Order: sequence, then C-alpha cells, then structure tokens
Amino acid sequence: MKNTFAEIILPLALKGTFTYSVPDFLLNIVKPGCRVEVQFGRSRFYSGIVASIHQNPRDDIKLKEIIDIIDEKPIIDKAHLKFWKWVAEYYACSLGEVMNAALPSALKLNSQTLLIPGFAINEEHDNLPDDAFILWEALQQQDSISLDMARTIVGKKQITKTLESLIYKGIAELREELKDKYQPVKLRHVNLLEPYKTKPDLAFALLDKSEPQTNAFLAILQKKQEFVATNEILANPLIKEHAIKGLEKKGIIHSQYLEVSRIKEETDSFEGELELSPQQQSAYDGIYSAWNTQNVVLLHGVTGSGKTVIYKKLIENIVNEGGQVLYLLPEIALTTQIIKRIEKMLNLPVQVYHSRENIQKRVEIWKGAKDSIPLILGARSSLFLPFSNLKLIIVDEEHDNSFKQRDPAPRYNARDGALVLANIMKARVLLGTATPSLESYFNFKNNKYGYVQLNERFGSIGLPEVELVDLKKARSQKSMKGPFSFYLLEEMRKTLDSKRQIILFQNRRGFAPAIQCEVCSWTMECRQCDVSMTYHKKLSEMKCHYCSQTSTLPKECPACTSTRLKLMGFGTEKIEEELQILLPEIRIGRIDSDNARSKKRLEKIIYEFETGKLDVIIGTQMITKGLDFNNVGLVGIINADQILNFPDFRSAERAFQLMCQVAGRAGRKEKEGKVIIQTAQTEHPIFKDIMKSDFKSFYYREIRDRAKYHYPPVYRNIILEISHKDLNTLWRAASLLSNQFQKKYGNRVLGPAEPMVSRVKNQFLLEFMFKLEKQSTLLKLIKDHIHALMDTLSGQKEFRGLRFKIDVDPQ
Ligand SMILES: [Zn+2]
Ligand SMILES: [Zn+2]
Repeated sequence: MKNTFAEIILPLALKGTFTYSVPDFLLNIVKPGCRVEVQFGRSRFYSGIVASIHQNPRDDIKLKEIIDIIDEKPIIDKAHLKFWKWVAEYYACSLGEVMNAALPSALKLNSQTLLIPGFAINEEHDNLPDDAFILWEALQQQDSISLDMARTIVGKKQITKTLESLIYKGIAELREELKDKYQPVKLRHVNLLEPYKTKPDLAFALLDKSEPQTNAFLAILQKKQEFVATNEILANPLIKEHAIKGLEKKGIIHSQYLEVSRIKEETDSFEGELELSPQQQSAYDGIYSAWNTQNVVLLHGVTGSGKTVIYKKLIENIVNEGGQVLYLLPEIALTTQIIKRIEKMLNLPVQVYHSRENIQKRVEIWKGAKDSIPLILGARSSLFLPFSNLKLIIVDEEHDNSFKQRDPAPRYNARDGALVLANIMKARVLLGTATPSLESYFNFKNNKYGYVQLNERFGSIGLPEVELVDLKKARSQKSMKGPFSFYLLEEMRKTLDSKRQIILFQNRRGFAPAIQCEVCSWTMECRQCDVSMTYHKKLSEMKCHYCSQTSTLPKECPACTSTRLKLMGFGTEKIEEELQILLPEIRIGRIDSDNARSKKRLEKIIYEFETGKLDVIIGTQMITKGLDFNNVGLVGIINADQILNFPDFRSAERAFQLMCQVAGRAGRKEKEGKVIIQTAQTEHPIFKDIMKSDFKSFYYREIRDRAKYHYPPVYRNIILEISHKDLNTLWRAASLLSNQFQKKYGNRVLGPAEPMVSRVKNQFLLEFMFKLEKQSTLLKLIKDHIHALMDTLSGQKEFRGLRFKIDVDPQ
C-alpha cells in the first residue's frame, strides 16, 4: 500500500508547509483544515493545520508521523485556506504567521504554552475524563504547568484536546492571555427567594424581631426588580450590611456577583431614527444598484449622516435570507458604548470578536462563525473567522489605519483583505467612511468600486463652523496662555456657560514631548533609540515611546552642567494640568494610551463624559474613533502643525481625516457645534478644504502629489527594513543588497536610507523602498528576490543576527 502524507502548516515564521506521514490509524480521518499534533525538531510539539494530503513520498529525509488528530471536523475549509495562502503570498510572510494571526490562542497550543489555574478551578466538575481530572488536580497545586509537563503528568503525547476542554471549562487559562485581559465589572446583587418573593408576609413574620432586617427586606421589595444591586440599597443609611447577611442566612434572599454594563441601559440614541430618511433611502437604493455591477461599494457619508441606519437595513436583508455579515471596526472603536448602540438598533444578538474578549468567548465565536451565526462585529483579525455563508462585509471607518497590522507579520490590511475574502466567498463589501482613504476613492475613480454619497447630516444639522486661530500672530501678540490662544479660552468659557461640553485634541501623549537645555540645546534622547524622551509628570519619569524605557528627570544638563532645563512642547498630560489651573472649577477627563490603557478605564471616561460628569475631554487620536456624544459644543485642535508637519507622505491625508473626524464630534443631535483649529500655517490649503468639508478638492491636490512622487494609491510601495545591532555590519549588508536591487530595478528602488527613527531598542535600522507601477509584473519577482537574498545573507556567518521585515503597502 502506498504511504500517505500530509502537508502541515505550523505556527512558525518559516516558509512553506511541513511534510509528515499519516499513520494507519489516522488514514481517512485526517482531512485538510483539521488540526493535528506533531513534533517539530527534537522536542517541540505544535498543533498544526493540515493544508493538503498526498501520496508523493519524499525520500530525502525520514518523515515523522502525525501524533494525533485534534479536530474531528476541519476547523477551516478550502475557501479560508485559499485566503490564508493569498495573505501569505501578497504580504510576503509564511503560512504559519498567517495561522498565528488567524487562530485564537486557545486553538494553537504548543510546547511553550503555559497553563495557569482558571477562574473555575475551585468549582465542581463532574464527569471529567481521567486525563482532564489529573490535570485539574495538578493545576490546583501548581501556579503554572507547561504543555510538556502536562504530557509527562498524563503520560501521553496526545493532550491538546484535553487541554482545550479544560480551557473551555475555565479550569485552565493561558498565561499569555493575562497580559491584556478585559475584566468585566461585577457587582453584588440580591434576589428574593420563594416563598417570600410571592408571599412577603411570611418574611415579615420571620423578621418580627429585627428592625434592620425588616428595613433591608422592605428596601429590596420596593425595588421591584429581579436582581437588586446591594450598593443601591446600602446607599440608604438605615440599611446595614449585616442585615443583608442576616436575610441571606435565613434563606430569604440569595446574593451573587453579576456582570453589569457600565453604560446606561436606556440609550435613546435611535428613537425615531430607525426609518430611513429620503436621503438615506436613496443612498440605500444606490448601494444595491451599484452592487449590480461592482462587488465593492464605497459609502461616503459625512459624520452624523446616519450610515449605521443604512447598515442596519442591509444587515437585516442578509440575515433574513440566512446569510452571515461581518461588521469590521477599528479595535479601539469596539467600546461597550458602540456595541450596545448597534445591538439596540439592530435588535439582533451581536457577537463581538477582538483580542480583548476572553479566551472562551473567542473560541465560541470561532465555532459560531462556522455554524452560521448571523452577525459578527469585530476588529481586523475577525477576517480570519471560518464563516460558512458570508454574504456581506461592512468595513466601517474604512480609512482608519489601524486596519493595518504593523507587527508582527502578516502585515496585512484588513480592509484590503476583506475584498479578497469577499471575492473567494462570493460576498459583497461595503466600505463606509466620512473621510475616504485616498486608496478607496482612487479605486472608485478608476471604476473599481461603486460609490454612494450621503451629504446631509441627520435631522439637517449643519456641519460645525470651523475657525482658525493664527498661532504665529497669537504668539507675537502674546495672546496665549500656555498652549491656549485667548480666543480658544474665551470660546471654551462661553461653551461651558451654556452647559455644553468640550473636546480638545492633541496628538501627543505624556507631559512634555522633549526636555532641552537652554544653554547648549542638549536634548534628552533614549539610550536605545534615536528619539527624544517624553516627560510624564504623573509618573515623574522620562519615557521613550518606542521602547518604553524610562529614566528619571535630569537635574542638570549632562553636556554643560547648566540647570536651565526646559520642558518643550505640550503633551495631553500637560494640557490637562494647564487647563485645570486656568479653569479650576471644571471636570476634565483624558483619553490617551497612558490614561485609558485598559478598556475599563476608557469606558469609564466615556461614560462619565456621556452622562455629564465631565465637562472636557482631552485626547489623542483615540477620541476620533467613532465616539458619539450628544452635547459637544466645541472642539479645539490645539496644534494642527504637529499633524501636518509629520514627515510622511500620508501626513496631509491623515491630517485631513483627523481634523474632519474630530470636527465631526461637534454638534450632534439638534444643536450645531463649533471647531477651532490652532495653527501657524493658516495659509495651508488643507484648511480651506476642511472648513468647506470639501473632500474632492483635497483629493485632487493630494493625488497629483502621490502620482508625481510615485506613492500609493497611484503606485505600489514595498518597504524592506533590515536591522542589526552593529551599524557597520548593517551597512555592509545594505550595500550588498543595494547592488543587487539597483541592477535589477534601477530607479524603482530607493535606499538604503535611515528611517525617521533609525535606532530602536539598540537595533540600527535601514530601509529600502520599492515603488512599482500598479500593473507591474515585478511585484512577485521582487518579493521572491528579497526572500532569496534574505536566505543567502542569513546563511553567512558575518550577517548572523541580521533581521528583515517586509511591508507590502505600508501605512
Ligand atoms: Zn547644556
Ligand atoms: Zn527607546
């Protein structure tokens, strides 16, 4: 009999698949898309995915056998394997790296995985199979066990299935998951037990002698709710904790911790907005007619025009026909606020998939996608879910650059991936935004996408009035207080007087972006990276935003010993402090990645702002992501120049998007709002476009530049970054590469050049940039060529430690 072999994808950054032989007991059981346990190298075990099965023996090496199969049915099917292959090929990475991005971590256990006791470790678990029982016991006694240790404990190599069931039951957790785990807020609640619930008189009789307990019982009764939060009852000074305990002891009530949403339940946001306005109706019709000829439609709707209501109708249609919808949003926009609103509006259970969901939930949704759950809301990685009947992908805020994954590989863009996936699955795509990316608008202009515009804000509220403050003038006339012009301050006071709220935007976090010596101009730079360190006042430390290294604030200049050290510029933290001094009575919240690192913090601040407990929010671009407030009267952009002068070909596009998005936060609901932009470049043409919200004018100016300088979307770019800890070695490698590239691609390749930050974590960096015509057949050649050169260099002793990073369509 012929031997059977399987090509396996392993979660490694190594090219290609790995051949294993299929043992007899797994013949006809192992199928493409199933996970299997295999040994790799001398001592590592992985769960890999079967890519294909064949009978072509390889006689060059002795092949290992597959140890066991994990899934009885494939967890991904052919269509998704095809998509994985596209991602690997287009973004020049390994299939294993795609697998890493695609599978939730609970589905890709390997030797190095560490298991720790889970939340349900001490609960009762009946009927556990023997292997699971032994591991449960082990986890009760140890802080953590590795997979290899688990194999020894059970005395078997095949344990992945068992471990997955332990994770699923909450008995075990993965240690890596702990890093950024989202902790739901739980509050103690009580509920009345029978017979006292229906016959309170029985309880009163029982409580005859205890006045505190009677009071507590009455308070619970009067709430007329199934579950009553104890903190609400305890707010009454007559009611004491021990009385509640007493009631519980007597069996009258039961208490437990329940998860509560921090967001008010009675969102009124969609009252009366559920029907399409005439403009929305015609946009909706436009989308369907565009879909007749184009698979992808760009919905360009100004902020506040009610794109979500249109999504709702589209989703309903698909779901009623039994199809599945994937609704993609930038990760940061997946706040409880937005999810609740969408859920409420759609009147459908919404499954949310992103990296902060807990591990059981993610596995559940993974399986659900296969079982056709109708709607999944997710961040970029939900593109890899194994949908069985996907009919529509909505990419909301399609311009957002967080759809692009930077590190690690695959450096994919979920918006672009969505188009390919939709093509494979025969689904349609809707890209929604108020400020289209140049890419998407360019594709519409070149007849690749359909296009539908929605120009009117809902309820005909006008777009906010945009005013510029000339910082050059304000500085020379000394009409500034710290970062605020007198004019902005005055408008802020007016807004607060009329009981409306303010959003201030500053794209720098921390306190002061740099510290400088006034005598010799020395600035403090990170020892490991080529950037200046930012002062964080609350932590009272200098911090590098590239490698997170910290140091103390120097007392004197190390170059000239002068003590005249000056903090330069304004970060969000300093703006918060200055504002609190100028307007001591107001309540300020700050949203940046320092202060709102956890989802919980972020949602708390949003909630407080939404419910009027804060007057002002100061934030970085985190505040532009889909947040929707009702009472914002003024938006202030503290310094537009920082955004405009960022040395990157996309800086104008980003500035336009950022400022339009921030401006869109002003004046929702019935009242109009105002936007004040502070800038030293009032003559810059971008401001005219923003003030008139004239996307077209902006687009045509910008696209001319992109064409002229060979940038996307007119051209295609690839960046090859190489790095090494020794600068000389790095340059030697770079000049070898440069010779090869120059010969073949001439002026289509630039570099080697130092990137803006040319040293990070003690690694020196150099970049090559390829600029190719869109139709060029060179794309694949170049990627293959880079890989071949990478292999050659990596094989040479002197270039050991050289690292490569390929970024196709860099953002
Ligand atoms: Zn100095
Ligand atoms: Zn650093």
